[in-house]
Amino acid sequence: MGPAMPQAAALADRPAAGRYALDALLADIAGIEATTELVDRKRRSRDYFWYSPILQEQLKDKLADVVVTPGDEAEVLRIAAACARHRIPLTVRGGATGNYGQCVPLEGGVVLDMARLNRIKWQRPGAVRVEAGAKLFDIDAATRPSGFELRMHPSTKRASQIGGFVAGGSGGVGSVSFGGMREPGNIVAARIVTLERAPRVIELRGDAAQKISRAYGTTGIITELEMPLAPAQSWIDVIVAFDDFIECVRFGHAIAMADGIVKKLLSAAQWPLPQHFAAYRSFCPDGKSLLSAMIGDMSMESFATLLASTGGTITYKAPSEDVLSKTPLYEHTWNHTTLQVLKSDRGVTYLQCLYPHDRLVEAVAQVGAKFGDEVHQHLEFIRLNGTMTASGIPVVRYRSPERLYEIIAGYEACGVMIANPHVVTLEDGSRYKRVDADQLGFKHEVDPMGLLNPGKMRSFAPQAV
Ligand SMILES: Cc1cc2nc3c(=O)[nH]c(=O)nc-3n(C[C@H](O)[C@H](O)[C@H](O)COP(=O)(O)OP(=O)(O)OC[C@H]3O[C@@H](n4cnc5c(N)ncnc54)[C@H](O)[C@@H]3O)c2cc1C
Repeated sequence: MGPAMPQAAALADRPAAGRYALDALLADIAGIEATTELVDRKRRSRDYFWYSPILQEQLKDKLADVVVTPGDEAEVLRIAAACARHRIPLTVRGGATGNYGQCVPLEGGVVLDMARLNRIKWQRPGAVRVEAGAKLFDIDAATRPSGFELRMHPSTKRASQIGGFVAGGSGGVGSVSFGGMREPGNIVAARIVTLERAPRVIELRGDAAQKISRAYGTTGIITELEMPLAPAQSWIDVIVAFDDFIECVRFGHAIAMADGIVKKLLSAAQWPLPQHFAAYRSFCPDGKSLLSAMIGDMSMESFATLLASTGGTITYKAPSEDVLSKTPLYEHTWNHTTLQVLKSDRGVTYLQCLYPHDRLVEAVAQVGAKFGDEVHQHLEFIRLNGTMTASGIPVVRYRSPERLYEIIAGYEACGVMIANPHVVTLEDGSRYKRVDADQLGFKHEVDPMGLLNPGKMRSFAPQAV
């Protein structure tokens, strides 16, 4: 008898034999790029869930049975039909930068890697149509010569795909001017493939496109997106240092509210977070909280005028250089702030908050007084439903799940909403960011067997089909 193997590992590593009709599936999709190699399946069954010690335990052993990489929409249709025929789950994977195991196949089955569906279909002034696997960086590079750029991108612009951003993200660099992805008008149209025995292709235009927004790929496989663009600007990266975090937040808010100042990013980070900003460390004075900003070149004088009445000092100012070879300033904002800290301190984790727009500074001060050094605050100014507010991604010293939930309750008691990043379901995770579109009803139409990313939409119960 061989050595006893831990049962969980033995089951997880085993390709589908017995669990799903993998051979039959592979026969149906013959000719399409697919791999059952363990190393590939392990590598492509993960995202950044490890930010959360709670999810790390829950998800570390989840594993796809096969990774399939279609080259065009016709192949996506064949794969969807095969999954429906053999009742095999399918989880779409974009750039895999999601934070809550969004593209982790909880029930194994197929991971559908979208990397090869990356073509730009067309562009015209103000809009671009792309395949869902196109990288955000490549889209901007293609539209900038015509004088346009994406309205917003996550700080993972160099790695994420547009399909992953729309299906998994909420907003990012640009949201201070255009709001989050869910604001009406921020997705022009989406083309999806359904998961049925005879899969359909559906074009969702206008508000209907919100049915796939931040649904973690549970409401259709997005194959194309039509996205609105903004006029491209000459952006200036700026770092301003303040003795006091509250003063930093007040100045960020003042710039956010100054409608004549063209901006793409206003990110406030409390000391000691900036001590982890390795690539910009020499511009982060010890003990100072920082406002990192992207300001339109033509607005820099007005920015400096408003700054003059504060105690802030500019420590860095240079044209934004969006090149793959250089770490951009925006990779120290949004959820990159947490990542910069995690690189040298694995004892922390994070939360996602939304501050009340009418008592933003007060709520920041209240939270600060409540948690002291256990929580270091980090705010991103954003427009939301026509008001200016901030989302927050505080870095939290991790002690236990119980303490984390006490901190969440403490934030909520200060009137700050929390979208819990330590859970995998849509319903429990992104409460304040839910869209009005009837995603649950739509799922019944496009995925009646519940095979798309199962386990992520808790309210869904499959029909007997
Ligand atoms: C360091 C760091 C910084 C981040 N900063 C931000 C930020 O600024 N703003 C923000 O919103 N998020 C941020 N995130 C989260 C994440 O980067 C975004 O959600 C990102 O846009 C995901 O894109 P992706 O291509 O990596 O998608 P993935 O992680 O691959 O997928 C995300 C979800 O979308 C689904 N999906 C992917 N492609 C498709 C498709 N074609 N059809 C249907 N479903 C699909 C997946 O199944 C999954 O559920 C950050 C994460 C990290 C680790």
